[in-house]
Amino acid sequence: MADEKLPTRAEDFSEWYNQLVLKAQLADYAPVRGCMIVRPYGWALWENIQQALDKRFKATGHQNVAFPLLIPKSFIEKEKHHVEGFSPELAVVTVGGGEELAEPLVLRPTSETIIGHMWSKWIQSYRDLPVLMNQWNSVVRWELRTKLFLRTLEFYWQEGHTAHATRDEAVAETKQMLDVYTDFAVNEAAIPVIAGAKSDAEKFAGADITYSIEAMMGDGKALQSGTSHFLGQNFAQAFEVKYLDQTGVLQYCWTTSWGLSTRIIGAIIMVHGDDQGLVLPPRLAPTQVVIVPIYKTDEEKSSVLKTAKELKAQLLKTDLRVTLDEREGFSPGWKFNDWEMRGVPVRVELGPKDVAKQAAMLARRDKPGREGKVSAPLADLPMTIQKLLREIQQSLFDKALAFRRANTHETKSYEEFKRAVETGFAYASWCGSGDCEEKIKEETRATMRCIPLDGTDVLGHGAGSGSGVCIHCSKPAKARAIFARAY
Ligand SMILES: [Zn+2]
Repeated sequence: MADEKLPTRAEDFSEWYNQLVLKAQLADYAPVRGCMIVRPYGWALWENIQQALDKRFKATGHQNVAFPLLIPKSFIEKEKHHVEGFSPELAVVTVGGGEELAEPLVLRPTSETIIGHMWSKWIQSYRDLPVLMNQWNSVVRWELRTKLFLRTLEFYWQEGHTAHATRDEAVAETKQMLDVYTDFAVNEAAIPVIAGAKSDAEKFAGADITYSIEAMMGDGKALQSGTSHFLGQNFAQAFEVKYLDQTGVLQYCWTTSWGLSTRIIGAIIMVHGDDQGLVLPPRLAPTQVVIVPIYKTDEEKSSVLKTAKELKAQLLKTDLRVTLDEREGFSPGWKFNDWEMRGVPVRVELGPKDVAKQAAMLARRDKPGREGKVSAPLADLPMTIQKLLREIQQSLFDKALAFRRANTHETKSYEEFKRAVETGFAYASWCGSGDCEEKIKEETRATMRCIPLDGTDVLGHGAGSGSGVCIHCSKPAKARAIFARAY
């Protein structure tokens, strides 16, 4: 509710985030430490995210499936890097129905292993390939330091899994899904992202190559917002996923996996939010338009509410997501603040004078105060609002991109680098060694986020020149990478 004020972002960004998630009723803490309850407003946002992604997955030929939550523990142990990466985070079930289990089961941390197991039965011939699957589910990773949406013990996501006949095809799939995530982030969430490859230290346990999209939050830190993995033949070999090729030779498949989780809600909050609360991108907002009726007398009330209901019906017909706030006992001003805090992109204020003029006042969430207000004739509202929502969507993206560029610095000395990661991203040359990466992390708390794909305009004015030598050890550089402190 809107009664208690949030801390400002400048005062305490972390506490601003924590309180906002609770106050906007996106999520709450569960009785089990580190678990999250997603409340209806948060889930409605997640459903819109799901729909936008699911449409893209299906358009690229993927089908949804459901694999079980419980996986035999021995499966996790079959792929060497996978077990090393996930063992510390596993939740293990040893008792079922009051009996000690013959084999312990794990709550899935991800599903490569069980899917590999089933593929070994389902895939026989090149005619069975490619296999293109996705599942929407939750997974469990026993995280010690948790934060709602960003890192919780159980979280919601989708995991895509594909199997291919050739390496090239699997690599192309990995990159295609990275592009899908980028397209989603940019065009639905209005979040500019840098797509690139992870270092060996940061890649997925069991992957040959991990790509990610990285976004800059409002405090300058990075958030990995989606990942796409080329798994080589690692899981295919561990699980005997083989096919007979056209010449009758038995070959291992090449596989990929890719995921995007409820973390993206954290990104939406931290990229667009302001001191008044959430600012939701129109394309994903559960409520795009809220109508707040304004009246004093009973007579005014009946005429204003009648018009408000007609307006709502008219807006619903054009597929807008509309709420009419008819709550009794709250002043219009209180309602304005409440919906501002919850990030609704457009507010329609409707009072007796507006009804008399057959007009309404529109207020933009992304431009608080008089600047974002405009009066429009009721008859034109569906079109006016559609246009306004498109403008808001674009303006949120532009603002976030300008912020990221203003806080990304090409650094040619370690001193510059250290200053850059205090407030944002450093774009620096790197020798490629894990030792340098580890020392940079110890000394600056910044991690290697990604090596941007060729052609990425990181700085906003072309590729920049780079120094040719590693920012840490001054040996010849192998890559230019984004470094930042990260969530
Ligand atoms: Zn180095």
